[in-house]
Amino acid sequence: MTYDVHIIGGGMAGSEAAWQLARRGCKVRLSEMRGGGDSTPAHQGTGLAELVCSNSFRSDDHENNAVGLLHYEMRALDSLLMGAAEIAKVPAGSALAVDRDVFSAEVERRLGELPNLDVVRERIDTLPAAGLTIVATGPLTAASLAESIGKATGESSLAFFDAIAPIVHHDTIDMDVAWRAARWDKGGKDYINCPLNREQYLAFHQGLLDGEKTEFREWEANTPYFEGCMPIEVMAGRGIDTLRFGPMKPVGLDNPHWATPEHPNGRWPYAVVQLRQDNKLGTLWNMVGFQTKLKHAEQVRLFRSIPGLENAEFARLGGLHRNTFLNSPLLLDRQLRLKSAPHIRFAGQVTGCEGYVESAAVGLLAGLMAATELAGQSWTAPPRTTALGALLSHITGDAEAESYQPMNVNFGLFPPVDDAVKKKQRKAAYTTRAKADLAAWLG
Ligand SMILES: Cc1cc2nc3c(=O)[nH]c(=O)nc-3n(C[C@H](O)[C@H](O)[C@H](O)COP(=O)(O)OP(=O)(O)OC[C@H]3O[C@@H](n4cnc5c(N)ncnc54)[C@H](O)[C@@H]3O)c2cc1C
Repeated sequence: MTYDVHIIGGGMAGSEAAWQLARRGCKVRLSEMRGGGDSTPAHQGTGLAELVCSNSFRSDDHENNAVGLLHYEMRALDSLLMGAAEIAKVPAGSALAVDRDVFSAEVERRLGELPNLDVVRERIDTLPAAGLTIVATGPLTAASLAESIGKATGESSLAFFDAIAPIVHHDTIDMDVAWRAARWDKGGKDYINCPLNREQYLAFHQGLLDGEKTEFREWEANTPYFEGCMPIEVMAGRGIDTLRFGPMKPVGLDNPHWATPEHPNGRWPYAVVQLRQDNKLGTLWNMVGFQTKLKHAEQVRLFRSIPGLENAEFARLGGLHRNTFLNSPLLLDRQLRLKSAPHIRFAGQVTGCEGYVESAAVGLLAGLMAATELAGQSWTAPPRTTALGALLSHITGDAEAESYQPMNVNFGLFPPVDDAVKKKQRKAAYTTRAKADLAAWLG
């Protein structure tokens, strides 16, 4: 068979993309290296769409939760993975969890019934020079292919591990305590600064040292982290003042909330936590230099002890993992195509989305885009008020390229709903708007 599209990687994204394409009559070759003598450090078997860790697709609440909404939208688009999850479902309260073996077998069964799809157990080592291609090789892309991707994209645009600093919803930062400024007033007031006095700093420093950390997996421990990506608690362990000369440096930052007649511009705090805008909408702000292996509950507790962040809601908490991903906002066009080689699309976690569901969702979109291209039609993206549209916009240009790190779907990626909507009703307002806009987009 000659193929219309070559999909590399039969995980969440590749399986979903293959389904969307083959169901529309396109001829697809799906290359998966597992089952052909290769594997990754995390996969256990050879099944397509293997869940490497948790068996949960997280919340299924499509009225109040962004990932639940993503489930809803994927179901509306006949998602393979959502369909298989329905068959493999196990009780998990309001979450959608599955029996991983039943799930993977169901994905294989459904794909196996499509006559114009071939699953080939082979490792691909170089990016194809021609022909529509979808690369969906995930966070543990085989080294040979990663090298080829690095050559095509420029090595600094391909990361081999993430260094995730927590991200805060802007409207939960207390600006009566924090203030906007750049160091020495240079440039615009680009940073939000949270001031700590000496006592607060010392307590925070101790909290970092004492906090419970997540262990590296054996194969992650061998991935050295660069100095610039060192976890904050490791930096804290190097000395009491290391952070004050690093990410918590207060110099050149007059805090106007501490102004006195003697110091009308305010004073420098003892230490500072800086947040930088993370998306074009300005709804999300990352804590600069705060990548960490602290456990999530510990992060929330400790970071809420920072003045100005007492009521912070986190769109993402910090982490550090082995993870191969592209600087997509820089490299990909709005249709997930490599700008320098538009016959190649990327999908799944390698684009910098995070999680099973998000990876499958981006695979679904890549499949739809390729099918549209093959049909000679023009592509209209889902509205960015939908979960699919918000995630896609983030990856393909709306996230800040400079600080780009993997991201789960969350309401901070959506254009804000009217401020007049009461806080308690906002989540419902996001999902109601998304469903109406999705319905209009589907026609
Ligand atoms: C250790 C670990 C734990 C995780 N835990 C969770 C979790 O609990 N919950 C969650 O939501 N997300 C989790 N994630 C994230 C999750 O893996 C991904 O979000 C999801 O599986 C990514 O989907 P994907 O399709 O992009 O990649 P994958 O599902 O990893 O699929 C990529 C596929 O490509 C194949 N492949 C790689 N290179 C080649 C090549 N050169 N040629 C052919 N085939 C190739 C691989 O064998 C694999 O089957 C975890 C990730 C890791 C690494």
